[in-house]
Amino acid sequence: MATLVGAGRVTAGSGGVGRVEVGAVELRRIRFALRHPLRSAHGEEVTRDLVLVRVELDDGTSGWGECSALTRPTYTNEYTAGCWAILRDELAPALLAGREDDVVGHPMATAAVDGAHSDARLRRRDRSLVAELGLGHGRPVDAVAATAVIGRTDDIDELLATVAARVEEGAALVKLKVSPRPAELDAVAAVRATWPDLATAVDANGSLDRRSLAILDTMGLAYIEQPAPAADLVGSAGFASRLATPVALDESVTSTAAFRAADALGAGRIVNVKPARLGGVVEAAEVARTAADAGWGVFVGAMLESGVGRATALAVAALSWCTIPCDLGPSARYLDDDVTEPIVADGAGLVVVPTGPGIGVTPRPERLEALTTDQLLLRR
Ligand code: MG
Repeated sequence: MATLVGAGRVTAGSGGVGRVEVGAVELRRIRFALRHPLRSAHGEEVTRDLVLVRVELDDGTSGWGECSALTRPTYTNEYTAGCWAILRDELAPALLAGREDDVVGHPMATAAVDGAHSDARLRRRDRSLVAELGLGHGRPVDAVAATAVIGRTDDIDELLATVAARVEEGAALVKLKVSPRPAELDAVAAVRATWPDLATAVDANGSLDRRSLAILDTMGLAYIEQPAPAADLVGSAGFASRLATPVALDESVTSTAAFRAADALGAGRIVNVKPARLGGVVEAAEVARTAADAGWGVFVGAMLESGVGRATALAVAALSWCTIPCDLGPSARYLDDDVTEPIVADGAGLVVVPTGPGIGVTPRPERLEALTTDQLLLRR
């Protein structure tokens, strides 16, 4: 796996900045209520239950990472309790022992522990993640345009009110979660009729069929995300060849290699890059670069993160390859009081990329305590 200079998953020798031992790894399972439940083709999220990881270096510097898996394995095969176990039993002990883990899969758990380790090492150097990722690739932007992702509904009045609120807040693009149900397709059509000039996309989480796609293809959408199941790249290529609307891939792209297969098959034209799903920011940036070089549109997706995961993902969204609005809205859109200082939008509705040391935000101790449902401290 690629590593950031001075911030990789194995401390010894990487980046040529000298060995810094990891003294402790802390796991925190936190739970918070979402302001608006998010209903998608794979279920409904009402509360968020995720794992934060703190890595403490021997010099006392700490860094934070987030495991963004959902409570149940409905979106990917990772889920919160399983990630807790793999972090406790495999990934944290390997990091404490200074050896590379030999775990197969588990990208979201891996992204959490690598992210925390990277954050600690960057903070030790007083260096920001976004500056480190941007090395050699042009200056990352200070703030990014954001898409408002809106859950499935067939209550058209409620949907129109929600879209109106997001447009008022400055959303650059509105993305509606959909399934093939006719009432939901009618709801998408109602949004298009009400705001014909508003960039609008849909995300089907692998649920669409030819009939529903033919209907959506008449609506002038910016893109149709993940129409076919994650593993069905051939099916996605078939859809992509018949549709005028660009197909975006999310769950299908689990690595740079998976992206290359999708590109070779013509399975899409836009890729949703999620650092959590890809095992961390380094692989996410590599997919973004590879996709941009291949002529694809690129955006960074979201996992209903806390401020830790949101700030981490924003560092990728700020890179020049990410040309389509990201799904990372401000904290206040998702929860009343973030675990970190809030991620905010500027006066133009752009989401401000944190530029302080490391990921640029830190959990606030009192808020972290209030949200914690389980914790574990492992020492070397
Ligand atoms: Mg998606």
